[in-house]
Amino acid sequence: MSEIGSDDLKAMLLAIAGRIADSRERLNRLDAALGDGDHGASISAAFEKAAAEVDVLRDPLPSDIWLTTAQSLMNGMGGASGALFGTLFLKGVAPIHGKERLNKADFDELWRASLAGVKARGKAVIGDKTMVDALEPAVLAFAAKDNIADAWAAAAEAASYGAESTRELIARQGRARYLGQRGIGHQDPGATTIALMFEALDSYWREMTNGKT
Ligand code: ADP
Ligand code: MG
Repeated sequence: MSEIGSDDLKAMLLAIAGRIADSRERLNRLDAALGDGDHGASISAAFEKAAAEVDVLRDPLPSDIWLTTAQSLMNGMGGASGALFGTLFLKGVAPIHGKERLNKADFDELWRASLAGVKARGKAVIGDKTMVDALEPAVLAFAAKDNIADAWAAAAEAASYGAESTRELIARQGRARYLGQRGIGHQDPGATTIALMFEALDSYWREMTNGKT
């Protein structure tokens, strides 16, 4: 099993939405410490809506699933991160456009484009205490593995480590930058959401391949 079709991709989005919904309160608490406390509520509602919209697509291509998700996140979520999470999915559409199944190389291109899009839109770099601190290491770790199962696992681990690394940082982007030093000791909520996303993808992949091999 080395290629992913639309049914699995739909299920992967549902898995992301489920994982984020389960973490709603934790994400709200993290954002209460560093921002305005809405991140868990808004990201979980936005992914729930995206998953519902994806679920009713008929015979979608992978790029249709990614585009619907992007549009739903952009429309369904206010604030800085609605546009950024929307961009993350939107920039993944072109590299997979028209493909019926996605292989490791397709995901490499997808994630690379997503990362570039988020960085261009938000102007954050590694160390700014944002979602980029989880996303960039995850994308690099994914690309560094040859096989897709190893790539999901490595990406999830790197994202989680990256999210944890934000705890000791002083924010240079987003609302948390107004806190300066006082933000030290608190993990960035957006980076945590990225880690949850890659954890959900890795878990889904492992469950799926265990069942089929
Ligand atoms: P808001 O700050 O508008 O309330 P959220 O609470 O939903 O939005 O999301 C906050 C998260 O957005 C932060 O934890 C951070 O990861 C991310 N973020 C904010 N600004 C930027 C940026 N310029 N680039 C990348 N990520 C950012
Ligand atoms: Mg917020």
